[in-house]
Amino acid sequence: MNQQVQRLVVVGGGSSGWMAASLLKRLFGQQLDVTLVESDDIATVGVGEATIPPILFFNRALGIDENAFLKATGGTFKLGIEFDGWFEPQQAYMHAFGRLGKDMGLAGFHHTWLKARANGDARSFWDFSVNYQAAKQARYQPLSMLPNTNLPGLVHAYHFDAGLYAKYLRSLCEQWGVKRVEGRIEHVSLAPQSGFIESVDLADGQRIQGDFFIDCSGFRALLISEALKTGYEDWRHWLPCDRAVAVGCEATEPRLPYTRSIAHEFGWQWRIPLQHRTGNGLVYSSEHCSEDDAAATLLANLDGKALGEPRTIRFTTGRRQKQWYKNCLALGLSSGFLEPLESTSLHMVQSGLVRFIKLFPKHGINPETVDEYNRQSKVEFERIRDFIILHYHLNARSEPFWQRCRNMPIPPELERRIALFRQSGSVFREQDELFTEVAWQQVMLGQGNIPEHYHPLADSLSDTQVNELLNNLQTLINGTVEGLQTHDSYLQQHCHR
Ligand SMILES: Cc1cc2nc3c(=O)[nH]c(=O)nc-3n(C[C@H](O)[C@H](O)[C@H](O)COP(=O)(O)OP(=O)(O)OC[C@H]3O[C@@H](n4cnc5c(N)ncnc54)[C@H](O)[C@@H]3O)c2cc1C
Repeated sequence: MNQQVQRLVVVGGGSSGWMAASLLKRLFGQQLDVTLVESDDIATVGVGEATIPPILFFNRALGIDENAFLKATGGTFKLGIEFDGWFEPQQAYMHAFGRLGKDMGLAGFHHTWLKARANGDARSFWDFSVNYQAAKQARYQPLSMLPNTNLPGLVHAYHFDAGLYAKYLRSLCEQWGVKRVEGRIEHVSLAPQSGFIESVDLADGQRIQGDFFIDCSGFRALLISEALKTGYEDWRHWLPCDRAVAVGCEATEPRLPYTRSIAHEFGWQWRIPLQHRTGNGLVYSSEHCSEDDAAATLLANLDGKALGEPRTIRFTTGRRQKQWYKNCLALGLSSGFLEPLESTSLHMVQSGLVRFIKLFPKHGINPETVDEYNRQSKVEFERIRDFIILHYHLNARSEPFWQRCRNMPIPPELERRIALFRQSGSVFREQDELFTEVAWQQVMLGQGNIPEHYHPLADSLSDTQVNELLNNLQTLINGTVEGLQTHDSYLQQHCHR
């Protein structure tokens, strides 16, 4: 299609719709007419409250002030995700954001730690994570470097209220000139020859025409699937959870600056602390647990009094075979779904938008552009999928659900990564991959995949020098963390709702 893209229509006013409308309008300004269509009668999914550090870039691109943002969204700081009982009951570890230990050149810090471990040092890997130590002591304040060193300080993301988030982005969009149309889409009109979308037609007779459409209609996938019939790749054989039951509860103090992911017999439970409530949900496999049992388990494991009735959400893990097809791009739930174990969905909306902007079809849509977008999306989905499978697969739990996850065949690429780490402690971040080597190391170690050998370069330090290095790091980290404000007091002072 050689038609210029000037009129952009976003379908859906959940987080993904408002993220798309805000970023595109902010960056393209007058070059793009942006209209967002949403129906007040069709609720948003209402979850999606934990994020990962790249969200800071998204907010920066929108010119958002952090404190004002957290105030408006009831948000809190997030330093990592704790996995409780994932390897075996009573054991916990964290995927703490940021670096861990000290950069040791070609052999990562974890090899030095492995050497100390081989010598009988019982200290945990996470004793050397400033994020972990601050998280567990419920402390937070901005800290870009550890004092008097060149070692990085805290790396954070946010928890926020999904409803307030969409409202906040909507208010920005309205200031910047995004047009919002309320109404239920009943029909999608396709051009007879090309099959491109011409308009979305509302129940009240309005017809919204556009050059390009972004499908943010949620699991319904109104444009990309219902109208354009792109297929879906189902990944339930690797990620068997297909339901979540969610309920908020009263906030408890201290508000933890991290997400908790607690393994249960047939799935796992999230706890997301916000200023005004805690978000909770249980992700489970309907093959292993009934809806009633899931709700009862969730209600029995809340920190505070439930606020309302638990609500069930059904999903099929997998991805749309083409995220971009003709003049339609799917973002958010319409593009596919990976469960929220590593809080990646909103990030994938962001990265999808960045990819789209880099390939923006201002002068018409050509197949090379579309193929490149879809190629990169596929790789991104698959890498995140593998990282999530890793948590399930490497477990030593006894329940049938966990046995199934342990015994299932996994994607060969993940199999290779697990074996490589087991043999040599090596893990490599593939080009542009979201998760860092340190993230992979933490989950590998946390899930019990302890390397057989450490790298020989770790022997360039004697046992005494290794011990000294670890002592110094620990003293530095502990001393720094003790001096930080509590998370609650920082929120109260700077971001109180
Ligand atoms: C259980 C669960 C937990 C999650 N947790 C996290 C998390 O912690 N972190 C994270 O990053 N992500 C998480 N996610 C994902 C996250 O919730 C979504 O990526 C995000 O909310 C975006 O949703 P959406 O905007 O695509 O869809 P929705 O929120 O479903 O919005 C769909 C929109 O489309 C509109 N619409 C639909 N049909 C029509 C129609 N016919 N006419 C007009 N309008 C229509 C609706 O009105 C609505 O505005 C989670 C998802 C689930 C299911």
